[in-house]
Amino acid sequence: MNQVQPDLVNFDPGIAYFSMEIGLETGLFTYSGGLGVLAGDTLKSCADLGLPVVGVSLLYHQGYFSQSINDKGEQVESPIEWNPADKLKLLPSKIVVREIQGRDVSVQGWLYVYTGLDGHRVPIIFLDSQLPENDEQDRALTSSLYAGDQEFRLRQEILLGIGGVKYLRAVGCHKIHTFHMNEGHSALLTLELLRESQRNVLETWDEDTVWDFEKVKNQCVFTTHTPVAAGHDKFPYDLVEKTLNVNIPIKALKKIGGEEDLNMTTLGLNLSRFANGVAQMHGDVSRNMFPGRDIDFITNGIHVPTWTHTAFKKLYDRSIRLWAKDPKYLRHAMNLPPADIWAAHMDSKTNLMEEIARTTGEKFDPEILTLGFARRAAAYKRATLMFNDLDRLIEIAENCDGLQLVFAGKSHPQDQAGKGLIRDIHQFNDEIKRRSKKLKLVYLPDYNMRLGYLITGGVDVWVNTPLRPHEASGTSGMKAALNGVLNLSILDGWWVEGCLEGITGWAIGDVDPRSDLDREALDRYDAESLYGKLESIVVPTYYQNRERWIQMQGYAIGVNASFFNTHRQMEQYVCKAYFIR
Ligand SMILES: *Cc1c(COP(=O)(O)O)cnc(C)c1O
Repeated sequence: MNQVQPDLVNFDPGIAYFSMEIGLETGLFTYSGGLGVLAGDTLKSCADLGLPVVGVSLLYHQGYFSQSINDKGEQVESPIEWNPADKLKLLPSKIVVREIQGRDVSVQGWLYVYTGLDGHRVPIIFLDSQLPENDEQDRALTSSLYAGDQEFRLRQEILLGIGGVKYLRAVGCHKIHTFHMNEGHSALLTLELLRESQRNVLETWDEDTVWDFEKVKNQCVFTTHTPVAAGHDKFPYDLVEKTLNVNIPIKALKKIGGEEDLNMTTLGLNLSRFANGVAQMHGDVSRNMFPGRDIDFITNGIHVPTWTHTAFKKLYDRSIRLWAKDPKYLRHAMNLPPADIWAAHMDSKTNLMEEIARTTGEKFDPEILTLGFARRAAAYKRATLMFNDLDRLIEIAENCDGLQLVFAGKSHPQDQAGKGLIRDIHQFNDEIKRRSKKLKLVYLPDYNMRLGYLITGGVDVWVNTPLRPHEASGTSGMKAALNGVLNLSILDGWWVEGCLEGITGWAIGDVDPRSDLDREALDRYDAESLYGKLESIVVPTYYQNRERWIQMQGYAIGVNASFFNTHRQMEQYVCKAYFIR
């Protein structure tokens, strides 16, 4: 048995965490959005907690894409140029993967090591097939994230799942008791584990072979992130037959991956000892989507030291012992001097306004009530809900000391509806500019981790308007709460658990689903609720009852940031998912 490479890890990891994207820092272009940032935050908390984890993902030489906005308000995409060697270390081990259309594909890993607060190191491996000995089409597999057609995606997922397990073995990881699949993209790792456990059977396989799925099941944990049926990766079996070169007959695969298509969620669920959704309500939705399956929930979190604005870091360092190492103690934020909370908030708000001035030339005023909305531009997130009745929104701004709106977000290049939303927001802004001096809007291009940090920390209110129940969890609202920013949101995802009305923020719309309303009526209904809350409580509290506002900021931190973090999340994964009974 090989030794674990000493420059890779100083322990033999028991847990391998697989994710199609992992977001660790802004300039490490291995993520697109929420899923990747969650994976990065998760691994960082593993390091802080001293968990024996190794992360596995793919490298993307051109990242996801960089976004600019043209003068028509349309998203323009360009590939990202970056040099992995600036951030990562190329590992000496190379392996050959033969499962992608039967070709020999060389794979080499890049290493990132995240060091936790007490010095515990978590290695993260990014697999790379862009090697000179590979075919052009195989080299392309690690060019960009979420690009290409179905076949391309399947080949990438073979590289991640099967290549990932093989690579871990090649670098000496033999004691892994838990393979955690963060979403279905990596579910093919189960087939490699199956091959490992049935080595002898495969050579003599025939129709009557009994497959020992239990052995694989005992090694795997699966987390689903998508309450939208269409969001789950599915591959037709004729494509699978042409593309996936494994020694498992399609008949056997159908038993575990679904009869009609190879459904990566079905495969992951069937071959896991524990499965979960990412918020209470998402657990319910997932059980309805996959009846008969035992699906628990663990609500997502954020990595507290990463997402605390510098101004609040200083305040917490001064006043709350152990807040970073154990964010449960952020509960003491409820007892912070109001003047200190407000000063830290104004620091982070000024910081955002400077960024706005620098990148757009717009002058935003830190004294004015500012709402933030930054997230992937996807139809279900309803980025334009706030403009459902523009007259009404302008009226609210005109009747108080003003309203500033900060928007950001990329749309998937193939998502025409999402791109339409970005264009629409820019058109609304043209109209706002013509009609109101008191309502202001900016759209900051190229949303990334750095902008996420600045915006979630630098506005007063974080708005989220998803179409229920499509937001599995959402994490940006947690970043806001950590920085004393109040949430105003539809009761979906984490906010169902996080909203204490008038204490940690406010709800938009009803608790009960309004299935009596069609989409257009529901949008009107939710928008009406949003305007009502702004007018009756958010605006008056901000401008006329600053004392109460700051008290709520303390509650948002004390009640929500102390709970909705990846430290608590990982403690639950250890108890519910990783611990073997
Ligand atoms: C936190 C974060 C997200 C996730 O936000 P949601 O609330 O899930 O929309 C996405 N992108 C970036 C860059 C982030 O920092």
